[in-house]
Amino acid sequence: MKSEDRSGEVKIGLECHAQLLTRSKLFCPCSTDYQNSEPNTHVCPTCLGLPGALPVVNEQAIKYGVKVALALGCEVQPVTTFYRKNYFYPDLPRGFQITQYDFPIALNGLVKIENKKVRIRRVHLEEDPGRLVYKGTIETAKYSLVDYNRSGIPLVEIVTEPDLRSPKEARVFLGKLRSVLGYLGVFDSDLEGALRVDANVSVAGGERAEVKNISSYKGVERALSFEITRQRNLLRRGLGVVQETRHYDEARGITVSMRTKEFEHDYRYFPEPDLVPIRISGLVAGLRAEIPELPDEKKKRFVSQYSVTQEHANSLTFDKSVADFYEEVVSKMPKTEAVAGSSAAVAGSSAAWVATWVADVLKGELNYRGISMREASKLISAGDFVTVLKLLKEGVVTERGATEILREMLDRGGKPKEIVKKKGLASLGSAETEKAVFEVLGEEQNAGAVADYKLGKKEALNFLVGQVLKKTRGRAEPKKINELLKLELQKK
Ligand code: ZN
Ligand code: MN
Repeated sequence: MKSEDRSGEVKIGLECHAQLLTRSKLFCPCSTDYQNSEPNTHVCPTCLGLPGALPVVNEQAIKYGVKVALALGCEVQPVTTFYRKNYFYPDLPRGFQITQYDFPIALNGLVKIENKKVRIRRVHLEEDPGRLVYKGTIETAKYSLVDYNRSGIPLVEIVTEPDLRSPKEARVFLGKLRSVLGYLGVFDSDLEGALRVDANVSVAGGERAEVKNISSYKGVERALSFEITRQRNLLRRGLGVVQETRHYDEARGITVSMRTKEFEHDYRYFPEPDLVPIRISGLVAGLRAEIPELPDEKKKRFVSQYSVTQEHANSLTFDKSVADFYEEVVSKMPKTEAVAGSSAAVAGSSAAWVATWVADVLKGELNYRGISMREASKLISAGDFVTVLKLLKEGVVTERGATEILREMLDRGGKPKEIVKKKGLASLGSAETEKAVFEVLGEEQNAGAVADYKLGKKEALNFLVGQVLKKTRGRAEPKKINELLKLELQKK
C-alpha cells in the first residue's frame, strides 16, 4: 500500500499580481478608472508604447508598494530600480514590459497562515500589459482585438518561496493576502480579476511547471488540484514531468501546455535607461506609521475585547468593512440590558451575541446573494442593524422574523419597523402561540407523530415544533412552542 501521507511531496510557489488603487497609471498620467469605459480611451503615447514617449514613475505606486512590503514583513531595500523584460506579444506594444529584477522594492518577508509560515521572496512593481479581446470566444473569433486601457496599470507582484504544500494552503494564503491588501487600502478586493496568480507546482520526482493565468482567487485551488493530479499521473506511468509553462483554462478547469519553459536569460533583462534608480529608504518610517491595524492584530483584539469565538473573530476580520460594521453596531447597542429570548444569548456579553448576527446571519445572507459588505452597507446601515437586534431583544420579532427583515432590506430595501408591519412579522403573543399548538395537536395528519412521542420517540417533538412554526410562519418562539407542546402532550 502506498502511504497516504504525502506531506512534502507537493511544492507550490505563487507569484501574485495585485492591481494597485492609484488614480493614474504607473508611468503616465492616464486614469486607471477605465472599468466602464470604451476600449482604448484611457491611453497616451507612453502606455501605447509609441516611439520617443518617456515613462515617469508614479510616486503613489512606489509608496503603495513599500506599504505592501512592510505589511508582509519584508526588508525594504534602500534603492530600487526598474528593468526591461523583453518579449513580444500584441498586448505589449513596446516589445518589453517595465518591471523590476535586481533591486526590487523589498525582500524576505513572512506571512502566517493558520499554523504555518510562508516566506515571501520578493515584492516588486511592474506594469500590466493590455488585454486581448475576442468577439465571441477565442475559438470562434475571426480576429483578436486589443484594448490598451489596462496597459500601464500598476501591479505589485508578491513572490513566495515554494512553501505551500497543497491547493488548499494556496487558497488560504491568497485569502490572507487579499485581506491584508484590502486593509491597506491599496487594493480593491471586490474587483473581479484584481488579483491574478501564476503558480509554480512540482511533485517529488518531477520538474516544476508554471501555471499561468489563474485569474480568480477561487480558481487557484481548482487549477492546482488539476495540475497536481496531472503530474502524479505522468510520474505513475513512468513518464517525466517536463519544465514548461501551462495555461489555466478556467472554463474547462484544466491546464494546457503553452510552451516549454523559457529561461530568465531569454528575456534579456537590463536596467530601464529612461528611469533612474529611486532611493526609497527615506519613505519607510512615515509609511510604517500609516499602516492600520492588520487582520491578525484585529482578530486578537476582537477575542479579548468582545469575547467573540476564534471562528467569529476570523470571519469578522477577514474583510475590513465587515470588521468596521461590526464595531459600529456594537458601539451603538444599548449597554446594560442582558440578552433575553435568544438561544445564542451569552449572559452579559452582548458583543459576542452581535458577532453571531453579523458573522453568521448577515454574512450568510451576503454570501447567498454574492454581494460584498461594502455594497450591503448601502442597504443596511449599522443603525438599522441595531434596530433589528433591538426588535429581537424586545421580543417584537423572533429570530426568524429578524432574519426576514434583513432579507427584505437586502432584496427590496426599507426600514426595519416598516418591514415588520408590511410583512406582518410581529411575533405572536402566548395566547396565539397556544392556539396554534392546540390546532397542530388536533390535526389528523399529526396523530402519528403524537402517538410516536407517547411511545418515547423524542424526535417526534421536533416534527411537531416544525408544524407549529409552519402554521405561524415563524412568528412564534421555538422555545415557547417546545414548552407548550411538552405540557400538552403530557396531558394526552
Ligand atoms: Zn497613458
Ligand atoms: Mn509578473
